[in-house]
Order: sequence, then structure tokens, then C-alpha cells
Amino acid sequence: MSFGTSSRRSANFIGLNLDRRQLIGGLGVGCLSLVAGPAVIGRALAQAPRWTADPFSLGVASGGPRPDGFVLWTRLAPDPLSANPANPGGMTGGDVPVAYEIAGDEAMRDVVRRGVADAEAAYGWSVHVDVAGLLPGRPYWYRFLCGDAVSRVGRAMTAPAAGAPVERMRFGFVSCANYEHGYFSAYRHLADENPDMVLFLGDYFYEYVEEIRPTVRRHSDGIEAATLPTYRNRYAQYRLDADLQRLHAQTPALVTWDDHEVANDYADRWSQFNDDPDLFLRRRAAAYQAFYEHMPVRPILSRPDGPVMRVYDRFAFGDLLEISMVDGRQYRSRPACYAAPDRLRGHLESDAACAERREAGRSMLGLAQENWLGLGLARSKAKWNVIAQDVLMAQLRQTMPNGDFGFWTDDWDGFPASRRRLLQRIAQTRVPNPVVIGGDIHAFFANDLRVDFDDPKSPVVATEFVGTSISSAGPPYDVFAAALPDNPHVRFFESRKRGYVSVDVDAKQMTTRLRAISDAADPKASVSTLKTFAVENGRAGVVEA
Ligand code: FE
Ligand code: CA
Repeated sequence: MSFGTSSRRSANFIGLNLDRRQLIGGLGVGCLSLVAGPAVIGRALAQAPRWTADPFSLGVASGGPRPDGFVLWTRLAPDPLSANPANPGGMTGGDVPVAYEIAGDEAMRDVVRRGVADAEAAYGWSVHVDVAGLLPGRPYWYRFLCGDAVSRVGRAMTAPAAGAPVERMRFGFVSCANYEHGYFSAYRHLADENPDMVLFLGDYFYEYVEEIRPTVRRHSDGIEAATLPTYRNRYAQYRLDADLQRLHAQTPALVTWDDHEVANDYADRWSQFNDDPDLFLRRRAAAYQAFYEHMPVRPILSRPDGPVMRVYDRFAFGDLLEISMVDGRQYRSRPACYAAPDRLRGHLESDAACAERREAGRSMLGLAQENWLGLGLARSKAKWNVIAQDVLMAQLRQTMPNGDFGFWTDDWDGFPASRRRLLQRIAQTRVPNPVVIGGDIHAFFANDLRVDFDDPKSPVVATEFVGTSISSAGPPYDVFAAALPDNPHVRFFESRKRGYVSVDVDAKQMTTRLRAISDAADPKASVSTLKTFAVENGRAGVVEA
């Protein structure tokens, strides 16, 4: 316990004990706001905390860029890995007002906005500031202040105005960061590339504890996360990683999730080992709340309601780029064809043995989200339309021991009717330059997406790039490599490297660099470009650059 307020001082305070006048003078704004009303200032004063440990230990993040604003995030956690569930992050008591400053320069001299937002006790003392009224298409810098503590400075950005001409943008996309499997050098190298933003496509952490594969560092609690306190600790441990924390501070984030933010291979209310959907929904509610508490998502959109939380959202960047962030887990149909003993786990399913997989009513996104996605893409006037989601979309058929083709039920191969509907709609509504990006499979893929993957004459209607894992162990190379002749739309595959993908977009083309780190077990790993691909304006499909 290292948090207290001026009215509840405890003996273990070693921080400065400023009196009220010193607090105002010394901090400038402190937990106060020059634009806030007297009531807010009064409350901030009454609660102005003195800290014995940095309450901003988890860093800062920005996200959700819109033409007039963005979301700023932090979470007060002076004891980030608190073992006491009653004091998450080492905090007790009620909401704490936290001041924020937004500036036009990195040195924070040209402050354009000051305000106060609550660190909400009900949400683990996280802060989500939904800022509006700023200028479009430019970077801003920000920091938080509370009592005698000041956070590091982060960078945010506003999106260009709707339809405004934009010459180029750069974004990175990442997935699958298993803390136990390796260091986060990939995050460090992506931050060094100074992208406009980073897209987190899921498996931001792993809920389980590794018991089989080699590890280079361990989850601090040694237990599988399944409750709100244990999910919180997982996020906190990952956010203490210097590379991830710096990436968030420097780079605005767009976020969605995959399975491991909750539990392996879950789909809606169905999970691998838990046969009781109601019980699993309680676990999902805890996981979703912890996700909310740690991500720079819009509170008005994403504040969870029990096990329900909306993360899918759309972001437009002038006339150049529109990104649909998609939720591939919450609204899924039940996994096709049970496989004992793991019940609903993803598995290789023989085509002949499982007609359920091909049923027309099955959906990866749920019908409401499918519609939202299809309508948004049809309406988009952007030159490039990125569909950012969690798993491999292209078909990947593998020959099974019985000679039949097998399909993995946990990615889009488990929902082929849903995939066909989406790709058909993209073709029919002539979506400009549709590009699908994903993760989950711990391997790089570059794919041509066809409405009918079994017919090589079926037109290529979209392009797909899948990023390898940040650190999570990859699948066996030989198994997938052997399947490539049966999947001619797969133009590139590599599962032996860890890394990320860096994307440069301009009017003529989208250039995609597959970036590989030298060794996930080396905290100082170097990075190199494994392969560069392009997509040309007006022509779907992978082109070697
Ligand atoms: Fe993963
Ligand atoms: Ca996954």
C-alpha cells in the first residue's frame, strides 16, 4: 500500500509532504485544472495525494484518433502487481481526480488544453479522457499530473479532416506477445520506426502459464488469469515492460482482441474446458473489464456492460485510409464439431466428417457486426480500406492422415460461409483497395483472397497480410510448408521468425514490410526486413516489391 490522501495519511509515506500552498505553487496545475470549475478544484485539493511510489508506473497511452480529438489513457498503480485483490494496483478509496495537459510540442511548453478526469475506482483507477475540439491531422503531446506525481509525456494524434487530402501514412500491426516466450524487442523496433499509429490485433497477453515450452521470463503470479484481479495483474506486468510502455507512449494505438485476452480458443460464450456458458460469461466479463481498464478506447463506446463490450470501431484518415477494427471473438457462432476431450477447442476438422462447419448460418462476426462492416466498407470513399481483425482469413487446407482435407476450426476456415459473404459483398460493392490484416497464427502470411478458394479462376477481390508473433512460439514450419501446394493463394509463408509488420500507404500503393527480429530470447535483438510486398492501387493481390 503506498497510496494515501492528505486526509488519510499513513505512517509509511516517504514522499514529500507538501502543505496545500506548496502543492499549488510547486505543481502549477497538479490535480487542478485552470479551466475546471471551483468544485472540481476543491475536490482535487482535498484529495491531492502524496505518493510513496510512482502512480504512473504503467505509463500512458493514446488511441481512437478522430479529426477533433482522441482518447488519453493512464491507470493509477503505485503498487502495480499488488497481491491484494482489495487494493488493485495498490489503490484504495474512491475516485481520484487526475489532471491532464495537452500540448502542441513535445516539451509541453505550448499547452493547448488542461483538464481533470477521474481515475475511476470501479475500473481499477483507470483514466479514459475523451478529448474533443482540437485541430485535425496533427500530433499532440500529453501528460497526467496527480498530487506530487507527473507521468511521462506521450504522443497522440488527431485524424485528418474527413475527405481531406493525405499524402501518406505509416502504421504498424502487431499480435501475440507472450511474455514468457520472449522479450518485446519487436515493440521497441516498431516504436523506432515512428509510425503514425500501431494496431494491436490480439493476444496482447497470454492468460495461461507456460508448462511445456521453454521460457525466458515468467508471469509473476504463476497462475492462469481467470478473475478480475488476475487479469489486471497480467496487464500490469506486460505494461511494466519498457519496450511495450515506450511504444504506447510514442504511438497512438487502435486495438482489438483475440482469444488469449480471455481464454484459449473461446467463441462467444463457449470455451475450451468450461462447459457452462453462464460460468464462462462471468470470466469473460472480468477479462473484458480488465481490457477496458488498460486500453485507450472510447468510454462512450467501449465501457463494458457485464460480459458485453463493444470494441469494433472505424477510423478514417482523410481521403487516404479507412480502418475497420473488427471483433472476431465476442459474436462468433459456436465452434464447429466438438473434439473430445477439449470440447470446443480449435482443431483440424475433416471436411467430410463435419458438415456443420460449412453451414450458411454460421458467422465469425455475428450478423450485426457483419452488416456494420459491409455497410461501412460500401460507403467508404477512402483509397485504402483496411479490415483489421484477429485471425487468418484465407483458406488453409491441409491433408489429413485419412487423405481428406482438414480445416482449422478456430480461424475463418471454421466459418467459410461467413467469409464468403464478406468477400462477395466487398466485390459487389466495389470497395476501393480492400486489405485484410490479422495475427493469431504466429507466422507471416501474404495471401490473395478469392471468393472461392477452390477455384483458381475465381477473381482475387482483396489482399491479406498476417503478422507473425511479437514473441509467442511459432507453429511447425514443415507442416504448413507441406500444405502450400494445396493453397496456391498463399503467396508467402514464414513461421520461424518473430516480429511485426510495417505498412506505408500512399495514393499509388500500399507497401508492406515484414519485419523480423533476430531472437526473441535476446532482450537486445536486432531487426531486419524479411520481405517487402506491395499492393497496387486498383489491383487486388500480393505483388513482390
Ligand atoms: Fe497468439
Ligand atoms: Ca489466438
